[in-house]
Amino acid sequence: MNPNPICCFCYQAIDLDQDGAATELRLGAVDSGRGGEVRQKVYTHSTCLRERVHPSIDLWWEL
Ligand SMILES: [Zn+2]
Repeated sequence: MNPNPICCFCYQAIDLDQDGAATELRLGAVDSGRGGEVRQKVYTHSTCLRERVHPSIDLWWEL
């Protein structure tokens, strides 16, 4: 992984020492018929992802 990935939401560098739940998002079309092939990877701060995902959805680092 890039040592300083850029958050796809706020476009700030992610400090992996500070954000232990920084996340790699693997994007791919659900219906591509190719087994969920990853087409693109982006990165996000745990806080940025939490702000944008509905509160009813559990995120893995909170379980
Ligand atoms: Zn961010």
